[in-house]
Amino acid sequence: MHSYFISDLHLSEQRPQVSQAFIKFLASDAAAAEQLFILGDLFEYWIGDDAASLVGAEPILQQMSRLAEQVPCHFIAGNRDFLVGEEFCKMSGFSIMPDESVIDLYGTPTLILHGDSLCIEDHEHQLFRQMIVTNEQWRDGFLALSIPERIEAAKQARMESQQHKSSISMEIMDVTESAVLDAFVSNDVRQMIHGHTHRQATHQYKLEGNGQATRHVLGDWSQTASILIADADGIKITNPPI
Ligand code: MN
Repeated sequence: MHSYFISDLHLSEQRPQVSQAFIKFLASDAAAAEQLFILGDLFEYWIGDDAASLVGAEPILQQMSRLAEQVPCHFIAGNRDFLVGEEFCKMSGFSIMPDESVIDLYGTPTLILHGDSLCIEDHEHQLFRQMIVTNEQWRDGFLALSIPERIEAAKQARMESQQHKSSISMEIMDVTESAVLDAFVSNDVRQMIHGHTHRQATHQYKLEGNGQATRHVLGDWSQTASILIADADGIKITNPPI
């Protein structure tokens, strides 16, 4: 048996081919898995469960729900889709896990997370996380706005995020090594899986006194998919074309 991990599909109506590839993955490969984890930024933006049909998400949620009837499916929200809520869980059949959860992956305790919490040198993003992503008061206030108001706000936020990304260096947008090492130690794990940076890779670390640790990074879905397959023999990442 094996488990799948994916992230950063950034589904939107602007890239229907990615939504189609995801729907196909749910109906074929994923159906043979023991479990599926989506580690955030499945959607380019999510302005509330009540607006799912407006962003064209209904066919996607239906296919997710078909899979979830047979295979346990889990979701960790990213910085794009942190507003997923109870209705999303009902529609998709996925269960939401907290960011930075430790799971038992074929005998190896494994930290799974979206990954933006590791990018601590990106101060502007960390401020956004603190003020918005993890702030329930902000969340309630935003969800109380009308849907057109929320769409406007999301567009604004996306423009600001693009300006911000073009103004900072590539290093700052990647994880900070000290944050990675802290995460291994504070969660008492030697293995982690995350997305967010879109820099698919497997990194090895030497931990103080305690040997080796491994960080697997998922890529985004654009020309190809990025699918991590874990089983009792180990982990590999594949990139089938889209
Ligand atoms: Mn992200």
